[in-house]
Amino acid sequence: MKALRYYGAQDIRYETMDDPAPQSDHDAIIKVEACSICGSDLHIYHGHGFSDDAGFCVGHEAVGEVVETGRGVSRLKVGDKVMIPASVGCGSCRPCLAGNVNLCEFRLAACYGLSSQLQGSQAEAVRVPQADFNTVPIPEGVSAEQALLMTDALATAWFGARSADIVPGSSVAVVGLGPIGLMAVDSAYVMGAHVVYAIDPVAERRKIAEQAGAIALHPAEAVDAVREATKGRKLDCAIEVVGRDEAVDLALRLVRSRGTVSVIGVQQSRRYAFPLERFFAAGLTFRAGTCSVPEELPALFPLVQSGRLKPEKYISHRLPLSEGAEAYRLFDTRDAGALKMVLTPD
Ligand SMILES: [Zn+2]
Ligand SMILES: [Zn+2]
Repeated sequence: MKALRYYGAQDIRYETMDDPAPQSDHDAIIKVEACSICGSDLHIYHGHGFSDDAGFCVGHEAVGEVVETGRGVSRLKVGDKVMIPASVGCGSCRPCLAGNVNLCEFRLAACYGLSSQLQGSQAEAVRVPQADFNTVPIPEGVSAEQALLMTDALATAWFGARSADIVPGSSVAVVGLGPIGLMAVDSAYVMGAHVVYAIDPVAERRKIAEQAGAIALHPAEAVDAVREATKGRKLDCAIEVVGRDEAVDLALRLVRSRGTVSVIGVQQSRRYAFPLERFFAAGLTFRAGTCSVPEELPALFPLVQSGRLKPEKYISHRLPLSEGAEAYRLFDTRDAGALKMVLTPD
């Protein structure tokens, strides 16, 4: 099959690799109909990925059709259209049973496309372990593209907003306006936020956030602008969607006493100096981590079906998989208004 493979910094290649094959009776093979590039794929693209491997297939957001099932797969059948959520679980440990697939004790490589342990889904086909548990049928009234954006991006944005303790009337900051940040702006409004400050250095992205109803700010002006607008009180909560120390610091500076900071940007920092004294003095709540995609879907399906959330509006490019390397370049440089990049096998 054809797939996008990682060989080093800025080196993603569209190449042939072995077709995926079931490795256990519980696996299924999914023919990928569409896949997308995630902000966290850029960590790999920049050469600071999650393993030292090279040559593995990247990607963890995909939808497709079941083409093969192991003997132990009972719920899925050939021809089913499914989502392949980013998080992978065993389906039977305590966190999995509680819905926290991302915290699976047996972490079947945790996520697709981080190493050759579990090949990614930016490919013509992908092997899904424990397939009954790690696929979700696409419900009626949800398009393939909407489902694709729910395999990680929208679920993560929604989780980030939930983790920020947003209630009707909340004032919110979203730091970082990539696709997930923009979806976090929408999620905050759906949860009842009365104002959302959307912060990013890229003017084009700020403009999109304004169209979603947010007050857009450059990071350099954010602290002063928020302090002035709130008469020094600052905001109820902030959602950090970048994964950098400066962005976490900014989120912290925007939040009032007893407020909440929610960090969903995939953190690369090994040295962040957690300002415990500030948390202690202001009584702040801090939450960080990845989401369990299946846990978020029961809330998101009806919101998408009813049109209250429209994640597909953040798709900027639809390209053939063969142009994957260029898609990565565009997404990385934010050229041509690049936001969510959707790739389709040729
Ligand atoms: Zn993702
Ligand atoms: Zn598990």
